[in-house]
Order: sequence, then structure tokens, then C-alpha cells
Amino acid sequence: MATDILHTKLDSLHITGEERIKKAREHDEDVAILSTFLPASLTANQPPSKPFLCVLGKECFLGDPKLATPGTKKMEYKTRQWHEQCFCCCVCKTPIGTKSFIPREQEIYCATCYEEKFATRCVKCNKIITSGGVTYKNEPWHRECFTCTNCNTSLAGQRFTSREEKPYCADCFGELFAKRCTACCKPITGIGGTRFISFEDRHWHNDCFICAACRSSLVGRGFITDADDILCTECAKQKLM
Ligand SMILES: [Zn+2]
Ligand SMILES: [Zn+2]
Ligand SMILES: [Zn+2]
Ligand SMILES: [Zn+2]
Ligand SMILES: [Zn+2]
Ligand SMILES: [Zn+2]
Repeated sequence: MATDILHTKLDSLHITGEERIKKAREHDEDVAILSTFLPASLTANQPPSKPFLCVLGKECFLGDPKLATPGTKKMEYKTRQWHEQCFCCCVCKTPIGTKSFIPREQEIYCATCYEEKFATRCVKCNKIITSGGVTYKNEPWHRECFTCTNCNTSLAGQRFTSREEKPYCADCFGELFAKRCTACCKPITGIGGTRFISFEDRHWHNDCFICAACRSSLVGRGFITDADDILCTECAKQKLM
């Protein structure tokens, strides 16, 4: 967003607002210019300028949008003109005065109202994000608001997994949703390429897939199931004999 600068230094009475605007345009400045209505005696030998009309029209704070009493101050911004007091924020109606303002389409906003109206708001807390927000599913969050759905630790910069559009830290996701190892009961997360063995509806970590009797690894070997246990073929034979 562009923040404009207000130039409040009053021109010498002989430089008209139009001239200032022309200068500002030449220098590619985007400024509002404060000047004073001149008495007729001073404008007599200048080219006629377009008649003043306060942008606020019927809502002109001075009661007459055409009022151009010499000595009264006016504000010009791009092609439009206001009485100084009428150059105000379109939301809170506070005169901009010497403060900076933000133009948007045809409206003038004070910085506060602009923030209120257009700033990016966090999906979670609905407060304005000024810097360093994160986006998730195209929606903005504060870094500190983007947390695990389950344990609330911040997920910014962390690996996370989502389920039903909700983010979870790796630990919680594992605890809540992952397959569990039949032997050690810990989740099999698949994070970090964990290998595991599935047999019917049971799953084991590779390291947990061992014979219940001799504790030797059964990975890549034949095995026999014996109720809840798995046995290597040798131990199974002994058990059956
Ligand atoms: Zn006015
Ligand atoms: Zn305002
Ligand atoms: Zn937030
Ligand atoms: Zn968590
Ligand atoms: Zn295990
Ligand atoms: Zn064995």
C-alpha cells in the first residue's frame, strides 16, 4: 500500500494550487497540496482556474461546497479539491490535517481506518497481520496463530500434516491418526521414511517385527502367527512339537 505524504508548507500567495499540482505531477509526486483561496486582486491577471467545488458536496463541513472566501485554506489532491477541514477520512471523518493518508479508488482514508478496513486479518484471531504472516490453504495467519489443532504448538517453519483441512504437528498426527505398531503400540508415522510391515490388519515397525520366542528379526523371512504372536519358523516348529 502506498502512503502518501502531505505537503503542508503554504505556498507563497503567488503560486496557485494548480501550479503546485502541475509541479507535483512533473516530479511524479503523489501529494495533496494545501493552499489558500486568494483575494480577487491577486488572481486578476492569472489565467482563470476552474471554479472551486468541495468534493464533499452537500456534506461539506462548511455548509457550502462552493465557498471560496479569500484566506480560507483548500486541499487539492490529484484533480480534486476540498476545503481544508473537509479533506477527511471517508470512514471516521477526521480531517487528515498534517497526517499521512491513503487514497484508494475515489476515497481518502486515514492510516488507522485503512488498516481496519483493508489490512490482512488472521483467520484464527481476526486481528491484523502486520508482518511475517503465513498462508495456509490461501488464508492468512499470524505465525504464532498457526498452531497444531491438537496441542497448539506453533507450526510455522515446522513439518506438519493436515487432516480434514486442519493442521497437526507430526507428533500429534501420529498419536491421533497413524497406524500403530502391534508390538510397541507407538504410531507408525511414515515421516522420515519409516518402514513398516503390514499383515492382515496388523502393522509393525520394521524393528519390532521379531519372533516372540527368540527375538530374531522376521523382516524378509517366513513367519507363523500364533494367536497374537508371530514366530519364526524354527520356534514355531519347536512349539508345535
Ligand atoms: Zn467543504
Ligand atoms: Zn479514519
Ligand atoms: Zn492471529
Ligand atoms: Zn501437536
Ligand atoms: Zn513398534
Ligand atoms: Zn524364533
